[in-house]
Amino acid sequence: MQEQKIALVTGASKGIGAAIARELAGSGYHLWLNYRSDHQAAQSLAAELEEQGGSCTLLPFDVADPAATAAALEPLLEEQTPYVLVNNAGFARDGIMALMSQGDWDDVLAVHLGGFFNVTRLVVARMLKKRRGRIINIVSTSGETGMPGQVNYSAAKAGLIGATRSLAVEVGRRNILVNAVSPGFIATDMTTELPREQILPMIPLGRIGEPEEVSGLVAFLCSDRAGYITGQVFSVNGGAHI
Ligand code: NAP
Repeated sequence: MQEQKIALVTGASKGIGAAIARELAGSGYHLWLNYRSDHQAAQSLAAELEEQGGSCTLLPFDVADPAATAAALEPLLEEQTPYVLVNNAGFARDGIMALMSQGDWDDVLAVHLGGFFNVTRLVVARMLKKRRGRIINIVSTSGETGMPGQVNYSAAKAGLIGATRSLAVEVGRRNILVNAVSPGFIATDMTTELPREQILPMIPLGRIGEPEEVSGLVAFLCSDRAGYITGQVFSVNGGAHI
């Protein structure tokens, strides 16, 4: 019998991460499902996956905390190595630069860049030994172009795009493929409070995207059909940035 592949998805209790978890569970992966604080949402997603014949391990920890990340992942990595890692956990703390607090700068860089580093460093070491793996980093249109009020978030996501490209070059010979998926405005908790009348005119398709429109691309990048794609950034933004 073929061994069941594992996918570690960070920030998977809701939104885009939960959609990615559903999609990968549907493709037969056992999920390592990370989140930070919403136990209820994570448990309800776990129940849903199991009802549909899937399986998952819940891993509540803060990806921005190196010690908590190591404590949660190292014992699992002693036993098993994920085939897929999706670095998705994150949040924004928007505000104009002149008034941005030190905390809002530090926290946003810590979750997106620090989180990527803390999780990926541990996992890629194991992938290198196995000589296989797929790493997908969820970035943002804000990392590709200018967005007022998002200097911290843009810096973090642009940094993650750079990290994606360099890591892809570094680990390509070991058959580990690293790509970024860059969503525009997607309907999740992160965007519920954004004023639709200001956002919609910026989007040629005239609507906000759904999490499933991001997760389908992630699943493709994890599949055998994407075996010659690495170091790329794929935008899913309804044409908001071309
Ligand atoms: P969301 O619905 O707010 O979900 C965020 C997820 O990340 C939750 O599961 C949350 O866990 C988790 N999380 C937050 N901080 C964490 C931490 N320090 N450690 C571990 N988990 C943490 O957000 P989303 O819209 O799906 O966003 C997912 C990713 O897509 C983010 O990287 C975001 O920057 C990116 N993105 C989103 C959009 C958009 O329009 N929605 C556009 C471009 C890029 P708990 O709730 O359990 O704490």
